[in-house]
Amino acid sequence: MIGEFDLIKSYFSNLQELSPGLALGIGDDAAVVDVPVGHQLVVATDTLVCGMHFPESLDPEYIAARTLLTNLSDLAAMGAEPRWFSLALTLPESNPDWLQRFSEGLARVARQYGCSLIGGDTTRGPLTVTITVHGVVPRGTALTRSGAKMGDRVFVTGSPGKGAAGLAAVLGQLEDLTADQHQQLVDYFVNPVPRLMLGSRLRAVASAAIDISDGLLADLGHICKLSGVGAELSLNALPLLKGAGGIGAEQLQQWALSGGDDYELCFTAPESAAEELAQIAKVTDTPVHHIGRIIEGSGVYCLDSNNKKVSTHSNGYSHF
Ligand code: ADP
Ligand code: MG
Repeated sequence: MIGEFDLIKSYFSNLQELSPGLALGIGDDAAVVDVPVGHQLVVATDTLVCGMHFPESLDPEYIAARTLLTNLSDLAAMGAEPRWFSLALTLPESNPDWLQRFSEGLARVARQYGCSLIGGDTTRGPLTVTITVHGVVPRGTALTRSGAKMGDRVFVTGSPGKGAAGLAAVLGQLEDLTADQHQQLVDYFVNPVPRLMLGSRLRAVASAAIDISDGLLADLGHICKLSGVGAELSLNALPLLKGAGGIGAEQLQQWALSGGDDYELCFTAPESAAEELAQIAKVTDTPVHHIGRIIEGSGVYCLDSNNKKVSTHSNGYSHF
């Protein structure tokens, strides 16, 4: 059995040099960082609870990677650039193999996105992983949920529905998949791509943004509520997942609208930004799809191929 201090030293003290600005790292009562002049700190926390957000059998490499990736997605939605993160780890036991795999997953993502692990807390209890990420933005430029304006276009990146399809694959609920298709879907769930490059470039272009964790309808609903507007979505324009074996179109559409766990960005921008947006999508190599528009009123509704309003009942995932 490895003790708390050796555990931290062995598995978590080697990721402190991945970004600039760390004045004092792991080992003191708290970390000290230098925020670049003229910038603001952007802070987000996400917790993953075993049995709730991931099955117990999930490879610890994936548990670590996914927790950090979902946190980074929140920074992407704010237009922030990642710098540092802290890790609060609650473990039922200190199992060296498990910790080794976990720290490898953490290191992979931390290195990929240049985000340093600068502290945390380690406790015993039911497996729970909490990460707090810290990013930076030039003062006053963070993207928010509250800036959508009437007439703005609504966009989404990638293919929403991936997260739900991936979870179904992780849980072994999908049949008729080749091994490659299965792995691809599992990957959507365990390695969501935080849209950081796009997010930071949207600071100058988007009027509002959110990352899709509860489902497209619910999360666009959050933008609408905070912006005091409504939105209409064209079902035809939804970029549904392709190559997902025998999964029917109706299921894919339902997952796209209310599945959640996608970690794609949904954002709004004025029509006049179309050209700049196309350019940004190209340089960041991000698929960006125009799926609707902001209208007067409140709430989100969908239009079918005849431009008729359709009722969509599910409002995404709610924890309580
Ligand atoms: P305290 O008792 O003052 O809260 P701890 O013993 O919890 O201090 O932590 C000692 C040091 O180790 C701190 O700098 C803390 O940030 C760091 N630390 C603890 N757990 C982790 C972890 N899981 N990952 C990274 N750093 C950690
Ligand atoms: Mg502590």
